[in-house]
Amino acid sequence: MSETIFGKIIAGDIPADKLYEDEHCIAIRDINPQAPVHVLVIPKKAIARLSDASADDQALLGHLMLAAGKIARQEGVGDAFRLIVNNGEAAGQTVFHLHLHIIAGREFAEGHL
Ligand code: 5GP
Repeated sequence: MSETIFGKIIAGDIPADKLYEDEHCIAIRDINPQAPVHVLVIPKKAIARLSDASADDQALLGHLMLAAGKIARQEGVGDAFRLIVNNGEAAGQTVFHLHLHIIAGREFAEGHL
């Protein structure tokens, strides 16, 4: 698979301000934030899209969600955050290395995406 911008950030070839890192993932601020807090949680394993993940990735996917909760707490937004995964070009995915968007710090209308 050809390396994406996130692959280059993980490899350290492109500098990024890492908010969080562990064995399996990193978190960085989105370069074009859509909310006061907009953080990307990116697995070190290069899975192109969520729909390309397999049963072997089950623990990793859970790990990313738990890391997102930790990072949201670290960012001081408590339990008021939203997680988004864009899967596929038609759904707005632009970087084909799986990532979770943590969005927080703005009003969310109840019952709306
Ligand atoms: P997607 O549209 O694939 O779900 O999200 C990709 C996100 O990556 C976009 O929100 C975009 O602003 C962000 N992004 C693209 N290139 C870079 C980069 O070089 N650094 C950072 N920090 N974010 C990036």
